[in-house]
Parts: sequence; C-alpha cells; structure tokens
Amino acid sequence: MTDSNRSPSAAADFARLVADPDPLAGLAVVGGRVSWRAVMTILVIHVGALAALIPSTFSWGAVALVPLLWWITGGLGICLGYHRLLTHRSFRTSKFVEWTLATLGVLSMQSGPLHWVGIHRLHHAESDGEHDPHSPRHGFMWSHLTWGTRRRSDGRRIRAVTLDLARDPYLCWLDRSARVPQLAFAALLFGIGFGVTGTGMGALGYVIWGVCVRTVFVWHMQGFVNSAGHTWGYRNFRTDDESRNNWWVALLTFGEGWHNNHHAQQRSAAHGMRWWEVDPTWWTILLLERLGLVHSVVRPKLDRLDPHR
Ligand SMILES: [Zn+2]
Ligand SMILES: [Zn+2]
Repeated sequence: MTDSNRSPSAAADFARLVADPDPLAGLAVVGGRVSWRAVMTILVIHVGALAALIPSTFSWGAVALVPLLWWITGGLGICLGYHRLLTHRSFRTSKFVEWTLATLGVLSMQSGPLHWVGIHRLHHAESDGEHDPHSPRHGFMWSHLTWGTRRRSDGRRIRAVTLDLARDPYLCWLDRSARVPQLAFAALLFGIGFGVTGTGMGALGYVIWGVCVRTVFVWHMQGFVNSAGHTWGYRNFRTDDESRNNWWVALLTFGEGWHNNHHAQQRSAAHGMRWWEVDPTWWTILLLERLGLVHSVVRPKLDRLDPHR
C-alpha cells in the first residue's frame, strides 16, 4: 500500500505504528488466551437463532426483519460506515451521518467503532503476514470467526492506529458502551413485535429473528470477507497479500467481496472496478453524493487495472 492510498491522519497513525520501539508487542493474538465473554456471546446468539425453530415465535413480519436489518446493520453500518467511512475515509460527510452509520454498525455486534477500525487497519498494515489479526494462513476458521474469541493484548496498537477516531467523544462512547444501543434496539423490536402480533411469544420472535438470526447471518457473511476473500477468487492487482475478488462474497456483503481491488486501492470508495463487479455500497455512496449528504468521494484509479488478470 502506498501512502497516497491513506488519509493523512491514518498515514500519521501508521507512521507511529511503524516507529513503535517494540513492533511485535501485542499483535500475537494467534494462540492467545480464550475470551470466555466473546465465546459466550457467540454461543448465546447462535443458540438464540436456533430458537427461531419454536413455531409460536414465527411470523412473516419477524422473518422480514432479517434481510431488512442485514442491509441496515451490515450494509450501511459495517460496509459503508465502519469500513469505507471510518476506516478508510473514502468520502467525507457530516457528523450526523457519521454518527448514524456508526450507531448502525454497533448493532451488528462486531465490537465498537474504534476496536473494529483498529483491527481492520492492523489487517491492512500486516495483510497475510505473521501479525495479521485474521489471516487464513493461520487457519480458515480462524480468519472466519474464531480469531474473535481470543483475548487481545493488542489494545495499545489499536489505540495507536485509531487516534483520529479517539478525538470524537460519541464514537468513544459507542466503543465503550456498545451493549447499550444493542439492548435498546432489542427492546424496541420486542415492543414493535408485541404491537404487531399482540402476544409475548410473537414479540420474542421479533427479537429472535431481528437480533439473533440476523446477527448470525451478518457475522458469517462478514467473516467470508476475511476468510474466502483471502482464499478463493481472481486478482485484478498484484498486491503483496493473498486478497482475492470473489463474486459470491461480494453479493453477500454489499460489494465487499471485491477484496483484491480494495487491498490495491484502499481509499477508493468503489470496490467493484470492472463492469460485472457489482458493488451496492458504491451505488449507495453515489446516491448519497447526489443527495448532497456526502462529498470528497475518492474515485478508483481504473487505469491501474492489470489487463492480464
Ligand atoms: Zn483483507
Ligand atoms: Zn479495508
């Protein structure tokens, strides 16, 4: 990655990271101690999703929440908010839009914004290297999910690469208090479910489908970006890592599966760069730009596409 691909603040953060007197400190997450809190969260949400098999919790309204909230929390919250805006600053926007997208991202239960962005910036800094937080070279399932179950000792490094976000008190609050909006949202769904179905089990069904089933689905779809996105697919660019463009991952993650394109041009707001590389998150950014809600959108450098790949 060249410095031209990084925002000025991120470049400064990476410079601090590289200048760290103890560069190996804290990144040895592989083989680290198990975080039982993370394991329990993953187990509870998966078991909660299995509760969707209880017939009395079923309603079509509850089922419809899964695709709707997949888009809102995964597409808008993670892909657009956490990734293209907060991590890579692929476009500029108002604080209101930034805070709204970050709040939607928190609802996906993939940690708060500073932690998520920090891990992802470390992934780009160390892509498929020894200290990549979630590379398939340490195991497919490791990169897909289980890396998130280890107690992390890299808090200092995460702080070092998220100094730009740490200046925002709301993002810091979201990072510390991620469970508050998650629980409030579950309570809201329960209330809506009770209002629609008129029964406690019907309301519970809204929480089971809208939180548990949807979260399990989004977790695994995002996990494929880290696992399949570094394992299977083709490459448009000769990058120093194993990133791949994978069509089915792109379809399941609102365009994030064009991962080799993304590793090659990390600040580009578009991840899909050839005509068939559908990228709904890029289309959303273009729509928001047309509406005047975002500006300074970073365009891809299509002349750098490798014609032989
Ligand atoms: Zn990657
Ligand atoms: Zn990225």
